[in-house]
Amino acid sequence: MVLRRVGFIGLGIMGKPMALNLLKAGYPLTVWNRTRSKMDDLITMGAYGASSPKEVAEKSDVVITMVTDSPDVEDVLLGPNGVIHGGKPGLIVIDMSTISPLVTRRISGELAKRGIKMLDAPVSGGERGAREATLSIMVGGPGDAFEECLPIFECLGKKITYMGPTGMGQTAKLCNQVICALNIQAVCEGLMLGAMAGLDVKRLLEAVSAGAASSWMLLNLGPKMVERDFKPGFKIRHQQKDLRLALELAAELKIPLPGTALVQQMLRIVEAEGLGEEGTQAAIAAMEKMAGRKITG
Ligand code: NAP
Repeated sequence: MVLRRVGFIGLGIMGKPMALNLLKAGYPLTVWNRTRSKMDDLITMGAYGASSPKEVAEKSDVVITMVTDSPDVEDVLLGPNGVIHGGKPGLIVIDMSTISPLVTRRISGELAKRGIKMLDAPVSGGERGAREATLSIMVGGPGDAFEECLPIFECLGKKITYMGPTGMGQTAKLCNQVICALNIQAVCEGLMLGAMAGLDVKRLLEAVSAGAASSWMLLNLGPKMVERDFKPGFKIRHQQKDLRLALELAAELKIPLPGTALVQQMLRIVEAEGLGEEGTQAAIAAMEKMAGRKITG
């Protein structure tokens, strides 16, 4: 079987290991990143380094984007040097960034005018999931394009779910982020209560991780909170973007998300402490600020 030519735009914490997995699976790969030096490793391993998103589209059958926010996806897809100017009819764009469902629908409409189909396929599973190709991928868009791209998704994740028409992948991801955010807050509060009451927080983590309180957040971020390892897997700044998008969707639907709003404000405290570029485990800093003590040391 001849593998389709894949283009990859955005080689950050998530994009680079995902692109590498496609390369390892044998896909002919063209990459582009705004900061050019981040393309070097992939070029050394056999990818072609393009000079613009437009050139990526010219050289690809399927183009994946993994950038930050809605305006960034708009920029690389519809901007002056964007994919839309290089893509031929029949090209499929897969946006795997987490962005607004509304903007997704608008971009998809613009691409459709040129015969380009778009899937929104945001992911969950963190940097480790990207590296180990174990992501959960939530896909919206035309069903035939989803079927065509399934082999590509299978190189990147272990759970691939078709959520419905354009924008529904992003909608599912925002629900995911609401659940994640409240989970992080729960871990912070449990650890703070334990620390204030005089428990050894490492032993507390060990005990509760083996019981009903266990979760991805507790297992992955709890130890980092205790060890004060704030190196980003998922940045606070990006979590804030996602909570903003979730709260915007809730406002459109006129439903309350009180816990999500609270976590967004807690993370504002973390940002005010200058920790916006750190990983979401730095959420513990807000609890510590409020309690007037650290959970360790
Ligand atoms: P990151 O490390 O900050 O990487 C962001 C990438 O987007 C970089 O390659 C950056 O280029 C590029 N970019 C941003 N704005 C751009 C623009 N206007 N034009 C061109 N390129 C632009 O972020 P990440 O953690 O990989 O996250 C990427 C996306 O995945 C986000 O939507 C995030 O919410 C989502 N996500 C992240 C995780 C996670 O655990 N990290 C998990 C699930 C989903 P430069 O190198 O030039 O800055």
